[in-house]
Amino acid sequence: MRFIFECVECGGHYLPPEEMAYPDGPASPVWCAACQGAMRAAGVQEDPLLARVALAAARAALAGRAAEAAEADGRAARSDVRPSRPPRSRRARSGPGGVRSKLG
Ligand SMILES: [Zn+2]
Repeated sequence: MRFIFECVECGGHYLPPEEMAYPDGPASPVWCAACQGAMRAAGVQEDPLLARVALAAARAALAGRAAEAAEADGRAARSDVRPSRPPRSRRARSGPGGVRSKLG
């Protein structure tokens, strides 16, 4: 899973590589690739505290999304329990044109 960061410079959301490294150097958790390049060119270093906060926020957001996904899965599983149509007879399930061939 990759973290999504919000660039503190332009406010845009960006998705750095999973290993937090671009081909030309480490990815910043506070600036998107474009702003990081501009900052590096201007000789501005990222604030280490800001970087830690951004990383923590991204982790929390990732955990939140994972929990949401799990919750959605749970809802889907529960709704599967309640059939939307009457159960098929044994003959319909085992005969040709049954569930198995439709799924395949
Ligand atoms: Zn930016």
